[in-house]
Amino acid sequence: MNARDIPPSAADAVIRPEIAAMHAYPVADAEGFIKLDTMENPYRLSPPLREELGRRLAEIEINRYPAPSYTRLKALIAEKLGVPAGFDVVVGNGSDEIITMLTTLVARPGACIVAPAPSFAMYPLAAKIAGVRYVAVDLKPDFTLDLPAMLATIERERPALTHVCFPNNPTGNAFAVADIEAILRAAPGLVVIDEAYQPFALDTWMPRLKDYPNLVVMRTVSKLGLAGIRLGYCSGAKPWTDGLEKVRPPYNLGVLHEAAGIFALEHYEVLALQAQLLRESRADLSAGLARIAGVEQFPSRANFILVRVPDSARAIAGLKARRILVKDVGKQHPLLANCLRISVSTPEENALLLAALAASV
Ligand SMILES: *Cc1c(COP(=O)(O)O)cnc(C)c1O
Repeated sequence: MNARDIPPSAADAVIRPEIAAMHAYPVADAEGFIKLDTMENPYRLSPPLREELGRRLAEIEINRYPAPSYTRLKALIAEKLGVPAGFDVVVGNGSDEIITMLTTLVARPGACIVAPAPSFAMYPLAAKIAGVRYVAVDLKPDFTLDLPAMLATIERERPALTHVCFPNNPTGNAFAVADIEAILRAAPGLVVIDEAYQPFALDTWMPRLKDYPNLVVMRTVSKLGLAGIRLGYCSGAKPWTDGLEKVRPPYNLGVLHEAAGIFALEHYEVLALQAQLLRESRADLSAGLARIAGVEQFPSRANFILVRVPDSARAIAGLKARRILVKDVGKQHPLLANCLRISVSTPEENALLLAALAASV
């Protein structure tokens, strides 16, 4: 018998049914498109920095395993990205892996994870893969937190983990600080604040780790111009970081990722400047969107803007015909009907998007 001849029924008897019923995470084929669907930073490093990075990577001993303490990388993260003194850093292969590790950490029988909805798709996905019950609490139609509903759910479910995405993907707003404080006080378990968009919001909970022993702050360098190297990190009180170190695959960052992350953080001012450019472009994009009749936009603190159009299928088709890719989030949640999520990009790409959208609504 050849491996291809395994009857599907034999696999069905082995693979967990809830996994068999899933689809692999969809990623659109972007060949030849202006890519405004995944919040990437459109700016690359300058040619001299790229050459220097190439020389740095050429020196790496790829015959060796990484040193799993990632000491220099973590020290740079702490120094450049504002982790308070005395708090450890845990690194992940993207914050996606940190979400998986956090979920694994709390996946006791009967455990529950709570989060607002709509929010980041990886929270329910990680819970499903780990077999943990997930309870979503709808946001209000203006995408603010429904605090009474959140608190009632926390009281009823006693969640081991509560996710708060700040600013929230895919809505772009940052929830009220007082609401999040109320959640931190009420939650019996861990509260993870996902600050993937911190470079564009500037507000951060990182300094408040000292005030809330149940708080973990998670970030990534993906939206800061380094999506390709897969580097996320989090910090929190010692029981959490120690626990995460036990579930972290020991060599989760390859030596090339590690070296590229160190190099990029040594030139952090370049990334910070790019984020500033994108914050300025966000204001220009927003002003342009306001001039297109039929497009409703929601205020954004992130490097994307959520818009509602009269007919999202028509708008997506029009943008596709003009070789522009945006994210159709309409099916993710009833509150997002006819909504598109558009990454903020360079002035040139933003202008192309605005012209194409005006012709497609
Ligand atoms: C993009 C995104 C991440 C994923 O980050 P990676 O580090 O690329 O895995 C995490 N959280 C939110 C809310 C995001 O939008």
